Amino acid sequence: MAGAGTLAGKLAFVTGAGSGIGRATCRILAREGASVIAADKNLNGAKDTVSTIPRTTNQDHVPLELDVGEASSIKSALKATLEHFSKPPSIIVNSAGITRDNFLLKLSHTDFDDVININLKGTFMVIQTFSNAIIDHGIEGASIINIASTSGKYGNVGQVNYSASKAGVEGLTKTAAKEFGKFGIRVNCVLPGMIATPMTDAVPDKVKDKVVKLISLGRFGKPEEVGEVIAFLASDRSSYVHGATVDVTGGV
Ligand code: NAD
Repeated sequence: MAGAGTLAGKLAFVTGAGSGIGRATCRILAREGASVIAADKNLNGAKDTVSTIPRTTNQDHVPLELDVGEASSIKSALKATLEHFSKPPSIIVNSAGITRDNFLLKLSHTDFDDVININLKGTFMVIQTFSNAIIDHGIEGASIINIASTSGKYGNVGQVNYSASKAGVEGLTKTAAKEFGKFGIRVNCVLPGMIATPMTDAVPDKVKDKVVKLISLGRFGKPEEVGEVIAFLASDRSSYVHGATVDVTGGV
């Protein structure tokens, strides 16, 4: 039925929406009735995501070019959102992320900086920019969902930059939750293990075989299995979940 679902009438802003977990999340949020702004540095990927989302008469899904590493790009994304929808989104999903793997002793400073800049500072800048708009517009019941990682929680060989960025995302989430409660903005993060996406396609088979042995369910997760948890955290069904990290790891 048009507009039915736990997110009916809501507007969602998803970064990294052109691939993997972000794309799956857009589809699930839309299935639950939200209108979705699919934002990604790769505009074609974002367009492909939007083109595959079924649309009801009450929904409007929009692809948007966004570089979360650039404050000006995030401001432009907010401006475009306000022009198109006349309100800021009440659901923000920070799924944009990159890896630049190497052993600590060999990692270039550029690769360290780039990963921190996109995964951690990008998440911070999106939250800061959009939350100010949410508060200014008096939007109620907003929910922000960030993406951490098992690498941030346990560490991972070859990912000193990535694991530091994701541990940072968890700390940022908890602090944002402490500051935003009074505005009625909930902030949580999901902590995926190994999820089959283009990001993990790059992992050598030898490493994948080792990792899968550590997963109790004996398989990698699907992006939709993360998206379903994100949709729960976005909805009022999780109205008392705030400052939490939800593991989606298949039991690591
Ligand atoms: P993915 O590579 O499939 O998708 C990432 C998307 O982010 C891409 O569409 C890419 O274009 C976009 N992106 C990259 N840099 C950007 C920027 N500067 N601005 C805007 N968009 C940008 O990866 P994924 O597996 O879907 O990962 C999504 C999130 O989940 C990431 O934050 C990742 O770190 C996290 N994560 C993934 C896994 C996994 O196993 N796949 C595990 C834990 C956490």
